[in-house]
Amino acid sequence: MFEDRPSAHPEHLLLTPGPTPIHPRAQRALLRPMLGHMDPEVFALNGEIQAGLRTLYGTAPATFTALLAGTGSLGMEAGFANLVERGDEVLVCVNGSFGRRMAEMAGRYGARVRLVEAPLGQPIDPADVAAKLDGARLVAVVHGETSTGVLNPVPEIAEVVRGSGALLTVDAVTTAGMEPFYMEAWGIDYVYTGAQKCLSAPPGVAPVAISERALARHAARRTPTPLWYCDFGGLRDYWEDHTYHHTVPVNLHYALHAALEAALEEGLTVRQARVREIGEAVLAALTPLGFTPYVGERAARLPTVLALRLPAGFDDAGIRRALREREISVTGGLGPTAGLIWRLGLMGEAARPAPYRALLAALEELLNERGLVARFEAALGAVPA
Ligand SMILES: *Cc1c(COP(=O)(O)O)cnc(C)c1O
Repeated sequence: MFEDRPSAHPEHLLLTPGPTPIHPRAQRALLRPMLGHMDPEVFALNGEIQAGLRTLYGTAPATFTALLAGTGSLGMEAGFANLVERGDEVLVCVNGSFGRRMAEMAGRYGARVRLVEAPLGQPIDPADVAAKLDGARLVAVVHGETSTGVLNPVPEIAEVVRGSGALLTVDAVTTAGMEPFYMEAWGIDYVYTGAQKCLSAPPGVAPVAISERALARHAARRTPTPLWYCDFGGLRDYWEDHTYHHTVPVNLHYALHAALEAALEEGLTVRQARVREIGEAVLAALTPLGFTPYVGERAARLPTVLALRLPAGFDDAGIRRALREREISVTGGLGPTAGLIWRLGLMGEAARPAPYRALLAALEELLNERGLVARFEAALGAVPA
């Protein structure tokens, strides 16, 4: 199964909400020979990664950035581990499974968790955050809720939190690198993503940025961070002072560096336009078949995860299985939305015309429908490959 096998398609098309197809420059970077985690070349490369992450997240000039040696969930967990102490009031916004994961983690680190909830498919209301904010030490919100394709109004929530004394943690796993994100201007204290989402690098590192305020909160802890591996102090020992803390996955740093460089060369605003144009063209192609956006409110639709309600009678599992046989992966709903929606990934290298042309061509065949590719091309106009 894992040997190279002949295939009609040279590569499997991952149109899922992560992982995304690896960027060719990241793929090549994986071939570089091994270096030690304490070698000067690696520290130089790390320095470039840190600078690139400041641009990616729109941080203040000296904000501390780093990679954690794990996936996006480690980014999430490290925030709570370092910034929560037993008994702290923590306000967690929950309108899907990743918000729920945040609440679960905060609880395990001893927080008294209060929830601000919104129904599935709807964004968090900043007024609900304001109403529950009193006494909170930390507020946590997912920017792009992958499980439902909802974009939460992070700038408005940040405005409510600003000046309250609470820190703000934002999950930017499906947004950083593809959607506007301004850590400094919005006033965010901790943010993370995963390499395999909008950056199209291999999974295994989580880029983070930590504000001065968050570092001060960590420094004032009564008890040490219970997660030794991701202690903010230990991270700074390695990333700032260049002393040993743990062996970082050097090859994944190479690949992340290459993918980040490619993203910044392309330009963040160009990427933001790319994901929107492809998403709208896919929607235009599928609408006549009866697919409709799952998220009603237009401003709350997450461009990087196109959540579509399936037409009545659509054979969700059967069609996805047939696509998989053609080396194309798309994702269905999760829990309550299983069988009800598809979630099409438009992160990183997935947001290109070629893979979506292939998906639509396959659907034309499987559904015995015509015109999907033509409508896609017509709606797409002149988007560069
Ligand atoms: C994928 C994802 C995560 C978790 O990332 P892993 O890399 O799977 O650990 C967290 N938050 C959101 C919004 C995600 O989409």
